[in-house]
This record gives sequence, structure tokens and C-alpha cells, in this order.
Amino acid sequence: MARRKIIAGNWKMNMTPSEAVKLCAELKDLVKSDDADVVYCVPAIDIVPVVEAVKGTNVEVGAENMYFEEKGAYTGEISAAMLKDAGVKYVIIGHSERRDYFKEEDALLNKKVKKAIEAGLTPILCCGESLEQREMGVTMDWIRLQIKSDLVDVTADQVKELVIAYEPIWAIGTGKTATTEQAQEVCKGIRDCIAEMYDDATAAAVRIQYGGSVNARNAAELFAQPDIDGGLVGGASLKADFGKIVNYK
Ligand code: PEP
Repeated sequence: MARRKIIAGNWKMNMTPSEAVKLCAELKDLVKSDDADVVYCVPAIDIVPVVEAVKGTNVEVGAENMYFEEKGAYTGEISAAMLKDAGVKYVIIGHSERRDYFKEEDALLNKKVKKAIEAGLTPILCCGESLEQREMGVTMDWIRLQIKSDLVDVTADQVKELVIAYEPIWAIGTGKTATTEQAQEVCKGIRDCIAEMYDDATAAAVRIQYGGSVNARNAAELFAQPDIDGGLVGGASLKADFGKIVNYK
């Protein structure tokens, strides 16, 4: 069965609650799609107003992060149950900015993935290499390590529902997109890794996005690749261009 495309915006630390509601209204008609799932991953404080603002539309809401513990003395953190109760469907886990600036390592990310799934959220699990790693020729080794570590004790049925985002760090927010060939090669490599870890049916079901300076001009070619099932979009998700990316065909 063909995989349904999923195009998610990662708003990062942008948009106050009132700006967020305004953006949802501006994008509402532009992001209508019958072919793709559309998600806005928004800052924690925007979740409640954005869930309200997209009611009755085709847009689902995602969080940009969560903590793996159930509840308790974890000042500043947000639990999976809180996200679920607020109407969130997806949660980005392991974005390279969290891995880099907040020192989130694979063992922690594995706990987050498992907790998100347990709570009924769909993780958008990010992976990707640095420019240095690409130049050293270890891109796929590094990504396989990330995927294998982040999915310890996650079952095949759970992986089938998962979204994985391949985001080369050197392409995020830089305006430097991976070539279509580079993006397809790694997304296929991730699918092959899932086939080895689980089986062909699991690999065929998991959705793999490309992220890294996706824009209205390059989306069509990237998303047409056989192993690229949509995109995780940063900068371009905050403007009308996001509608063109969603309707890339
Ligand atoms: C991202 O933040 O996940 C991302 C891909 O950003 P950008 O599209 O701005 O490169």
C-alpha cells in the first residue's frame, strides 16, 4: 500500500500565541490537501490556542519536545499525557537542535520515543549527520547508530506507525538543501536499516521525511523520490510558502 505523505512544519521558538493563531488563519485555505497529512509542530505555549485554531481543518498539531517521565518534580518539562490531553497528535523527538544545544543523547531519546508511543502520540524521530561526518564518509554509519539506539525495545507494529525525519544538520536553516540524490540515498538507507532491524513490511510502512531547507521550489522533486514520504519544514513553514510545499505536485 502506498504510504501517505506527511508534511510537518517545525515552528521552533517562533510565534507568540497571538501570532500563532493569526498564522493558522492565514494558512488555513493554503494547506488544504487530500493527499498529505499536514502537521504544525509548535512551541509548548502555542499548543492550546493552535489546537483550537485548527479545529475543523485538515491540520493536526505536534509538539517540538516532551519529557519521558509520567509526572512529578521536573520543573519546566511537559509530559506525553499533557500533550495528548491538549489534543496533540505528533511530537518531534531528537531534533538536531535538541541533540546539540540541550545535549539530548540517544538513551534519553529512546525513553522519549517509548513514552510518546505509550501515550498514543506519534513520534517524528529526527536523525542526521554533520557536515564533518558527511565529509568523512560516515553518514550512514552515524544514522544507523542513531536509529538503532533510539528504537531499542520499540516493536515492529509501533515502528510501522512512526515518522522518521532525515535532516542533515548542514542543511537545516542554512538554505543549503541536500541534493535529491543525497536525500533519497539516506532515506533509502534508513528504510534498509529498518528492514534489517525488523522486516520488509515494517520498512515498507514507516514514513520517512526529508528536512533541511525544504522550500516551495525544491519540494516537488524531493517528495517525488521513492523513499521520501514528505518533509519536516522549518523556516518555510512560517509563511504562505508552506501551502505551496503541502500542495507540491
Ligand atoms: C528543521 O528545523 O527541522 C528544518 C528542517 O529547518 P529548515 O527547513 O529551516 O532548514
